[in-house]
Amino acid sequence: MDGITRRQWLFRVGSAALGSVVLSSCRPALSERRVDIPSNLADAYSPIGEIGCIACDNCMPCPYGIDIPSNLLFVDEARRKGYLPGEISDRDFAEKGKDFLSRYEAAIPDKAQSQKCIACGECLGSCPESIKIPERMSQITALTDVLRDLRCLES
Ligand code: SF4
Ligand code: SF4
Repeated sequence: MDGITRRQWLFRVGSAALGSVVLSSCRPALSERRVDIPSNLADAYSPIGEIGCIACDNCMPCPYGIDIPSNLLFVDEARRKGYLPGEISDRDFAEKGKDFLSRYEAAIPDKAQSQKCIACGECLGSCPESIKIPERMSQITALTDVLRDLRCLES
C-alpha cells in the first residue's frame, strides 16, 4: 500500500471492484482484541504464505475457543483451490476476497475465527511444524478485516 492510506486504498479497490460506493465502518469483533495487537491489522496485510498445518491438534484446545487447525487448513486449501487473495494491488483481489470470506464464514463459526485470538501465547511451542500460530492468526485477521471492510462498501 505504498504511499496511500488504507482508506484511500479501500476507495480505490472498492471503486474499481464495486462501482459507486459509500465507505462505511462495520468491521466486526475489533473490540475483542487485546490492546497490544495492532489495532489496524489491515494496514499490515500482506499475502499469506504456505502454512503447512498437519492437523495434529497438539495446539488445541485454544483457551479462547479458536479452532486453530481449521483456520490454518482453510487458508492453505484456499491457496490450492485458487481463491486465496494475493497482493492488494491484484486486479482480482476483491473478487477472490469475496469468495474467500463467504467460504471462511461458512466454514468456521465466528467464535472460532482468527480474530478471537488475543495473542496469549498458550499455543506457542506446541506445534511440531514450528508454526507461529499467533502470527498466523494475525495474518488471517488482517486479511479478513480488509475483506470485511470491502464488503461494507457494498452495503
Ligand atoms: S495465542 Fe491465540 S490461538 Fe494461541 S492459544 Fe492464545 S488465543 Fe489461542
Ligand atoms: S500443532 Fe501445528 S500442525 Fe498441529 S494442528 Fe496445531 S498448528 Fe497444526
